[in-house]
Amino acid sequence: MSFNPESPLDNLWKEYSLVFRDFDDLTLARWLAQTLGQVQGKSWRLSHPLLGAYRLASKLGHDRQIWHKRIVSLPHGYSESACCRAPMLPLLTRDVHEDGLVCQHCDEILVPFDEIPAALQPLLQSWANEYSPVHAVAHWDDRQRKTARNYDQALENAAKSAEVLLARAGKEIAPKLLEFYPTVIWEDQDECLEVRPEDILT
Ligand SMILES: [Zn+2]
Repeated sequence: MSFNPESPLDNLWKEYSLVFRDFDDLTLARWLAQTLGQVQGKSWRLSHPLLGAYRLASKLGHDRQIWHKRIVSLPHGYSESACCRAPMLPLLTRDVHEDGLVCQHCDEILVPFDEIPAALQPLLQSWANEYSPVHAVAHWDDRQRKTARNYDQALENAAKSAEVLLARAGKEIAPKLLEFYPTVIWEDQDECLEVRPEDILT
């Protein structure tokens, strides 16, 4: 989720983030901690506006080393992440089998796949294995596209499958992760297949 200066949407989000720049470190730290308290105990779509706002604030908090400096203590129920000392806030993506769970604060690996609770690994592995070939359709080379004859149709079918798989992530997988983490975020889009959050019905 890196910033692309060419992207109008990324620039708009940058504009949104200006509100947090007026916060001093303590105000920002309190806002982050309070918001984490409020979102606790649920799984959230990545596209949810509250989480979007949190992401903007947490990016700034990361730059200012809010958690590293321990300006406020960890919100109740959250443990410290090894990557950046922020409270653990895992993001579930389609790459979970390779990247594990991603840290929403620093974008590094928060929980490597083999450290995810063993009871959940088979479920995550089979979901990601099912998703991989579906996502790959967006990145087919010319030869593969020709083999499919009707590439537009193949792409359309892949997008439909991705919608179902992402809905399953939200309905089945994220709630199971919630048994082990105080709050969970799941990625509710596939930009390569042009699947948008509103396409995913949960
Ligand atoms: Zn981190």
